[in-house]
This record gives sequence, C-alpha cells and structure tokens, in this order.
Amino acid sequence: MGLYSYIRYRDQGICVYCEDEIGQEIDHVLPRSRGGKTISANLVLACGACNRAKYSHLDEEMIRKAFVHLSKHGESLDWVYEISVNSDTESFRSVLAAIKEEDHKDEERDRQDELDWIQRNQEDEARHHRSLDLQKKFQTREKSVEELQKMLDREHKKIVRLQEELAKNISNTKKLK
Ligand SMILES: [Zn+2]
Repeated sequence: MGLYSYIRYRDQGICVYCEDEIGQEIDHVLPRSRGGKTISANLVLACGACNRAKYSHLDEEMIRKAFVHLSKHGESLDWVYEISVNSDTESFRSVLAAIKEEDHKDEERDRQDELDWIQRNQEDEARHHRSLDLQKKFQTREKSVEELQKMLDREHKKIVRLQEELAKNISNTKKLK
C-alpha cells in the first residue's frame, strides 16, 4: 500500500479536523515550510475547507487535534521534538506536552476501565458460584424429595397389600362362620 493510500485507509476517508466532511486532500500537519516531513506521522486527510482554514492561519488547535489523532493511531511523534520549528518551537512544544498529557489521561482511563472490568468479572464469578451452590442445594433437596416420594410409594403399596390381606381374612372369617 502506498503512503497516500495508507493515509486514506487509516483516516477512513474522513477529514481529521472537522470529523464530518469527506477528506479529499492530504494535509501536512506541520507544513513543509516549517520542517514537516512527508511521512505518515505528519499526514492526515482533510476536507478542502479545513485545509484552507489551517493554511491561512497556522491553527494550533487544529494541529493539536491532528497530532492527537496521529498518536491515537500509533504514529510516533518523536520526530516533531527533534526538528527545529524556528519561532514556533515553543508553541509546538506546548502542543506536544498537551498531547502527552492527554495520552497519559487516556492510559489512566484505560487502567481504570481494566480495573473496573476485573472487578465486574470477579463479582460475576462470585454470583455464578453462588448460583451454582444454590443449584446444587436444590438438586440435593430434589433428590431427597424424590427418595421420600419413593418411600411413600413403597409404604403405600405395603398398605394396599395389607388392606387386601385384611379383606381376604375378613371374608375367610365370614365364610368360616
Ligand atoms: Zn474538515
């Protein structure tokens, strides 16, 4: 896949700045005139309007947004630290510091999510165990009920037999009389 096809693929055809329009143009986040290179870590998809808006005044907020986007897609931004950006060095440094801070917050959020997930899982597991225990108890109880039922059946049959014998005896006795 060529570089430009890769950018189109990575940014899913959408303008990285407004996240709304189709990204028809490929924009150097840090302009070439300021040392920006033609590498995937400095290229994003942009719609015509955003590209022009960014070009007419080097919008720090837009650059920040693009760098956040790039960093989220695994592009290394170390190169930005290394190049000199003349008078804008400070402002780019602050942009990058903000991105790093955001990354850090993301990581913390991820960690928290993971902890929450683990806790939820443990709770689920405990609930599952409790329900298994209950199931076992019910099964044991069901078995004892079944056994009792069988015992009752046996006893009932015995009673019936005894009654029959008794009836026979009575009729025998009557005949003897
Ligand atoms: Zn746009």
